[in-house]
Amino acid sequence: MSDELSGRVAVVTGGASGIGAASATLLAAAGAVVIVADLAEGSKEASAGRFVMHDVASEESWQSLLADVLQHEGRLDIMVNNAGISGGPGNPENTTVENWQKVQAINSEGVFLGCKYAIQGMKHLGAGKAASGGSIVNISSIAGLVGGAGPTAYTASKGAVRLLSKSVALYCAEQKYGIRCNSVHPGGVDTAIFNPLWQAVGREQGKAFLGSRHPIGRMAEPQDLGELVLWLASDRSSFVTGAEFTSDGGLTAGLQRRS
Ligand code: NAD
Repeated sequence: MSDELSGRVAVVTGGASGIGAASATLLAAAGAVVIVADLAEGSKEASAGRFVMHDVASEESWQSLLADVLQHEGRLDIMVNNAGISGGPGNPENTTVENWQKVQAINSEGVFLGCKYAIQGMKHLGAGKAASGGSIVNISSIAGLVGGAGPTAYTASKGAVRLLSKSVALYCAEQKYGIRCNSVHPGGVDTAIFNPLWQAVGREQGKAFLGSRHPIGRMAEPQDLGELVLWLASDRSSFVTGAEFTSDGGLTAGLQRRS
């Protein structure tokens, strides 16, 4: 427990599960008031903040979320745009337009709207400063750094988050809003997003297989990512903006030797 974020207000989208829940827990432990904005409420044990029903793909939902936060908490300092879906498998030949649009609406447009309304809620905090007001942390993926033959819509949506984050960072610095914006690129993290795979092959077997593909030899736990989110949200990263951070056990570091 620390109080380094005491007096700060954080919104974590998709905060009821996985990486979002771990981030919300760590932000709250550092003293922040946390709003868990999600479609579905997580378990009470996992809940680290006040739950607000929210759909990142709806602009009306963003308008009412921002109004709610400013009315109840009076300020907004930290936005973690984390909510996302895998969208399931789909290569460039068999991905339907419906699947493509659904994945972009949540993973890409949802993050764009999150940045747009975060800027609205935060820009007066650090006005006139190049940085040190608000912090926006966008959860992309290693699929936003390197392509793959697999889930086409997901990869495209996560690539968009990477360059959106840099553009938001540059815009906010130029406007002297004091808002930083960075993207996080996880490798495989043991969360509910893998439930369909666990159901197909078994959780332990699936985890062992995916873990073996990461040079470090395991999948990440949600807390591994939460620690990075906490650092990016805090003033300890005050000179960091427009940057991208992998937390992938070395998966995208380079080619691996075949044994
Ligand atoms: P998760 O399924 O455990 O959590 C995702 C949360 O987002 C859920 O609580 C869900 O209800 C919420 N959500 C989904 N659609 C929403 C919407 N329209 N509005 C609001 N909330 C919504 O998955 P996770 O692994 O914790 O995923 C979090 C983020 O991390 C996602 O953006 C995902 O793409 C990304 N990511 C995950 C991994 C991984 O291996 N788990 C790897 C790279 C990136």
